[in-house]
Amino acid sequence: MTNNEIKRPTDPDRLDDEFEFDQTVRPKTLDDFIGQEKLKKNLRVFIQAARERGEALDHVLFYGPPGLGKTTLAHIIAAEMKSNVRMTSGPALEKPGDLAGLLTNLGERDVFFIDEIHRLNHTIEEYLYPALEDFKLDIIIDKGANARTIQLSLSHFTLVGATTRAGLLTSPLRARFGVVGRLDFYTPQELSTIITRSAKILGIMIDLDAALEISRRSRGTPRVANRLLRRIRDFAQVHGDGKIDLTVATESLQQLEIDEMGLDDMDKRIITTIIEKFKGGPVGINTLALAVGEESDTLEEVYEPYLVQQGFLHRTPRGRVATEIAFKHFGFDYKIFGQRKLF
Ligand code: ADP
Repeated sequence: MTNNEIKRPTDPDRLDDEFEFDQTVRPKTLDDFIGQEKLKKNLRVFIQAARERGEALDHVLFYGPPGLGKTTLAHIIAAEMKSNVRMTSGPALEKPGDLAGLLTNLGERDVFFIDEIHRLNHTIEEYLYPALEDFKLDIIIDKGANARTIQLSLSHFTLVGATTRAGLLTSPLRARFGVVGRLDFYTPQELSTIITRSAKILGIMIDLDAALEISRRSRGTPRVANRLLRRIRDFAQVHGDGKIDLTVATESLQQLEIDEMGLDDMDKRIITTIIEKFKGGPVGINTLALAVGEESDTLEEVYEPYLVQQGFLHRTPRGRVATEIAFKHFGFDYKIFGQRKLF
């Protein structure tokens, strides 16, 4: 796969038209990439230094909730290094042969992107270590008495790993990354700039106050902001003259059942379940997942980070607890049954 090619979505909720949309609006350079200033500043230095030395960039690990730009940054690194990117994901690498096939096709300074790197299996990880350190790959050929190891030399490449769960990485793997960058949720101002930029690329007319309103309800996440922009564009086209002003934006968001904090149906279900069924918590993640009908991994990786960041949820050693803010936001009386249970 070359730099211009891209990863097909594996997540079923990222539909094909979203995929095309993503490709059109995805920033291609660090200058186009909005926000994450500290991380960008560091990356700029590391990229420039590696380029001046004519070397591959050190291996990079990005971690943070989904949709914040990890994949985008991997593409940008490749573009800034004037190299290609090859993409895969932890669960897709089942056999050592899968890894060998990808690694042996890498060119000098290419980027090898592994999404969901915390889900790599143990055997693959063992094969990866010498590849990362010495750019060598030991493969076993033949079986039984004839089995022997041959060593392949690899190009000097950069592994870019992305994970929503840095805590699940083994320490030997984590130790092999020279650069580790955390992606944080975006501010409404940054998201509003992203929305305005996407709208401009797509020829959508949008007022500044409408962009800001959408950005406030985008869960701090560019992927969500872009998704809302697409949906609201549909409303503007069908019910209006195609232009997104504050009224169109507000009405569409209401229609989409996105509340003023950007919480969607599942967020609401999580919080109201903790309050109503578990008296505000604490409740274990697996019990909560069962009660809301969602995988516990998805709760932890997709929903909880934003709820925690917004102060709706506490993760305690005994389980999840809804906060006073959550009680108030969803119209429950905290004094009556929150406080008693919390302390
Ligand atoms: P992740 O890999 O962290 O799940 P992606 O890199 O796939 O996230 O980003 C999701 C989408 O959000 C991208 O297609 C891109 O268009 C947009 N995006 C992410 N970060 C930014 C940013 N900083 N500026 C502009 N758009 C962004």
